[in-house]
Amino acid sequence: MNQQFAMPAAAVPVAQPTPCLGCGAPMVVEETTALHSNPKLRCGYCRREEDLPQDAAERHRHLRLRLMQVQRARESLEAPLKTYQMLKSSFVMGAIFAGLYGAWQLSTLISNIDATERLKAAGMQTEYAQSVIFAALGPAIAFGMLFGWVGMSRVFKGAVAPLLRARPPHNPGLAARCRSCGADLPAVKAPQVTCRFCSAINLLDDSLTRDASSLLEGEIAHYNAQARGANPDGKAYHAPTRAFYVWGGASAALILVGLSAVLFMIT
Ligand SMILES: [Zn+2]
Ligand SMILES: [Zn+2]
Repeated sequence: MNQQFAMPAAAVPVAQPTPCLGCGAPMVVEETTALHSNPKLRCGYCRREEDLPQDAAERHRHLRLRLMQVQRARESLEAPLKTYQMLKSSFVMGAIFAGLYGAWQLSTLISNIDATERLKAAGMQTEYAQSVIFAALGPAIAFGMLFGWVGMSRVFKGAVAPLLRARPPHNPGLAARCRSCGADLPAVKAPQVTCRFCSAINLLDDSLTRDASSLLEGEIAHYNAQARGANPDGKAYHAPTRAFYVWGGASAALILVGLSAVLFMIT
C-alpha cells in the first residue's frame, strides 16, 4: 500500500471565520439553490448582509458544481437500490394480497373436494393436475414473497448497509463524516442522517465509535481501490433485488412442488 496515503487526511479547511463588521457575530453563507447564483454573507444578529467577495463566490460555485458531480455519480451507482426501496415499500400489501389469494385457492379446492374427486375419473388427469397445482400456486407465491423478502433484507444488511454507513470521526469526539462528500455530519440521535451538502443518506450505528479504527482502515482501502480504478461496491447495489428473486423464486418452486405432492396425496 502506498504509505503516503495511509492516513486519511482531514478535509482541506475551506471556511475561515467571518466576523460581522456590524456586531462581531460570526456571519454565515446563506444557502443558494441555483448553481450560478452568488450566495450572500448574512449576520443572524444585526441582519447585516453583504456579497461574498468575487473570488470567494467563484470558489463557492466551483465547489457546489463539484458536489453536484459527486452526487450525480453516487446516485447513478446507487440507482439499483430504487428497486429495493420499491419492493420494500410494496411488500406488505403484496404479501397480504398473495396470502389471501392463496388461502382462497386452497379453501376452494378443499371445500369442493367432491368435484375434485370427480376429476380423478379416467381421462380427466390433466384437469385434476391443473386444479391441484392451481390451488398450490397461491400459497407458493405468498411464501415465495416472504422468503424473498427475508433474503433481500439479509443481503441488504450484509452487503449494502455497510456501504451506506457514515464515515467514522477521525478522532473520538469529532463529527462523523458523510460517506460520499466527506462533510461533517450533524450529531443526531437517529438511525440515519441526510448530508446537507450532497443529499447522501448516511446510516449511523454504534460501530462508528466501537469499530472506528477498523472502519478508518476500510476507508483507506476503499479509496486506494478507487484510485486503482477498481469499483468493488458496484455490484453490491444490485444484490438485494437479485436475492429477492433468487430466494423468492427458489422457495416458491419448492413449495409449489411440495404442496402439490401433499394435495395429490390427500385429495
Ligand atoms: Zn452582525
Ligand atoms: Zn455529503
